[in-house]
Amino acid sequence: MSSKPPRKILVTSALPYANGSIHLGHLVEYIQTDIWVRFQKMRGNQCIYCCADDTHGTPIMLRAEKEGITPEQLIDRVWHEHKRDFDGFHVDFDNFYSTNSKETQHYADTIYTRLKEAGLIEIRSIEQYYDPVKEMFLPDRFIKGECPKCHAKDQYGDNCEACGAAYQPTDLIEPYSAVSGAKPVRKSSDHHFFRLSDPRCADFLKAWIADPKHVQTEAANKLGEWLQAGLSDWDISRDAPYFGFEIPNAPGKYYYVWLDAPIGYMGSFQNYCDKNGLDFDEYWKPDSEAELYHFIGKDILYFHALFWPAELAHAGFRTPTGVFCHGFLTVNGTKMSKSRGTFITAESYLNHLNPEWLRYYYAAKLNGSMEDIDLNLEDFAARVNSDLVGKYVNIASRCAGFITKRFNGKLSESLPTIDPKPYLKQQFDDELAEKQTKGRGGWVMHARAHTEWPGHDTNELFGWFRNQGEDIAAAFEQRNFSNALRLIMELADIANRYIAEKKPWEMAKQEGREAELHEVCSTALNMFRDLTVYLKPVLPMLAEQVEAFLNIPPLAWTDVWAPLPAGHAINEYQHLMTRIDPKKIETMVEENKQSLAPVPEAAPVKHAEHQQNEAKADAAASPWEPFISIDDFTKVDLRIVRIANAEHVEGADKLLKLTLDLGGETRTVFAGIKAAYAPETLIGRLTVMVANLAPRKMKFGLSEGMVLAASDERGGPFLLSPDSGAQPGMRIK
Ligand SMILES: [Zn+2]
Repeated sequence: MSSKPPRKILVTSALPYANGSIHLGHLVEYIQTDIWVRFQKMRGNQCIYCCADDTHGTPIMLRAEKEGITPEQLIDRVWHEHKRDFDGFHVDFDNFYSTNSKETQHYADTIYTRLKEAGLIEIRSIEQYYDPVKEMFLPDRFIKGECPKCHAKDQYGDNCEACGAAYQPTDLIEPYSAVSGAKPVRKSSDHHFFRLSDPRCADFLKAWIADPKHVQTEAANKLGEWLQAGLSDWDISRDAPYFGFEIPNAPGKYYYVWLDAPIGYMGSFQNYCDKNGLDFDEYWKPDSEAELYHFIGKDILYFHALFWPAELAHAGFRTPTGVFCHGFLTVNGTKMSKSRGTFITAESYLNHLNPEWLRYYYAAKLNGSMEDIDLNLEDFAARVNSDLVGKYVNIASRCAGFITKRFNGKLSESLPTIDPKPYLKQQFDDELAEKQTKGRGGWVMHARAHTEWPGHDTNELFGWFRNQGEDIAAAFEQRNFSNALRLIMELADIANRYIAEKKPWEMAKQEGREAELHEVCSTALNMFRDLTVYLKPVLPMLAEQVEAFLNIPPLAWTDVWAPLPAGHAINEYQHLMTRIDPKKIETMVEENKQSLAPVPEAAPVKHAEHQQNEAKADAAASPWEPFISIDDFTKVDLRIVRIANAEHVEGADKLLKLTLDLGGETRTVFAGIKAAYAPETLIGRLTVMVANLAPRKMKFGLSEGMVLAASDERGGPFLLSPDSGAQPGMRIK
């Protein structure tokens, strides 16, 4: 560890919208952020984690009206629900606030006024759909009508859920208001715009995204494309009636989400400062030495890495030190689905399963990139059972009882010096060659000198455990939690190998081996303590239980520098974690299927910022999702073909070799239809092939496509035939 002073770090997660429940998709971000924050705190840094509910907008206003309550009552209720869910998953905000606060309003006004003074706010008249019955302008998601592309009925004003097309609300055929059902009229109104197209913004942003600290490489590439294409001005106002903050000197005009929600980060932090006697400006002044990080989903990258820094920079505030962007959650390889029961709310998860199981599994999947992560429910149970119960908890459960029963609950007075090689070698030999060629891992990495570490000694087993701490810390710092957990589980393997070889349960039955038994169990519990230090950011509650069991103060990262004191008294071992019973997962999934609500006439609407995962999950019960777009379908080139020849393939049990006439071109295809068709019956008939399937080299030759056939448990395969008139080479669409 370096002797540098502790870092001052302010961390945020995206603000959840106060119009819906927290679900497992949201939790990818909150759990990820919480792990990172807990890690920073364990390292001795001053790290403050702020968040808030995003409370403004038309959806909140309309929902409150529908429920017959005020928007304030609605957002207060949802705040408590959100807080309960976050607490349930041990997401430990230092401040969880609300954007409907005087602090947020203060900073929204400050930023707006300064941008206006800088000439970056412009007022323009725009034409929008207006509901003449409800007397309000309609957001895109509140206008419905027929899709201009595929003509599906009742589609939203921004995109079609049937064919995936994106369009303007004015493109909809026969539009109607989802609020009143009335036919909307077009009406002009003055809107306030942030002039992101101003060259000052583009120049600033070009330099800003060029610094690799600010955004991940993949994000920088995407941002570069957007900059290249040119930035447009952003509409930052909405007309009354609206639930939000009125713009100063602009009666009837309210701040829209981009000059409201992210400013909630500042509002929440100001509120924290007031409660804890901190200086807000020390963190937010342009030359601040404090670090500021935003964890966000990839859907709001544009706003957080272009709009937000440009807004801050031109309003006299500091810009983020880093924007950490992550992917979406899929469940069992596909997007969360209400009909499949995989649209799982935080509340329903907590009714059935241990939150730390999910924290561990997410951490095992997160690598600091923007890739989506998959919650495979089978793998989830297997991974948690194998790693946490089978490897980690097992160390304590196999050794603690001897300490309690045989040694009066006290650890040995001394610990043996152990050559780590026998326990390492076995593990690393197999993987060594591969790891070395990849330039990492194995002996090479582990043997790296950490001269700044006290007591560093890789020739000694505890030295080995200590030494790994810095590699594990580096992985946590880079948000590569999967790598951190891999390193930790390698250490757990070493500990288990040590126990398996020493066999304390046999020592316990043999005369004269008391001292050895005492030392082996004390050694194992020290290794268990070290593993707990490393796992604590991920498993805070389990770590607390371990602290109680080992009778020690809250663990800090540097605790691994020294073993537990000689003769230290521990408490009786209590079971730490049970295995996941797959039946409980099934029950949870069933419960989420049953709670499937009928589709409301105006589906819940989110700010663009909060469409994260949620809007992408289907609202209606459908066994067919995920839907593909028409563009996906047209990628498959289906053609009518004539089977010019068909013959047996020597040595193949299931295949026939088909020669297909594509209308001038011939293809060879090996088809698994031998059981259903004699080759001579096929010659001359028409069928359907995938013509643009990549050729595949098979044992019997090159297969240049695929013929289509139907089958299930009732029989088949049955080849397809076109109606008469179809000719070889015709495209099917
Ligand atoms: Zn459509």
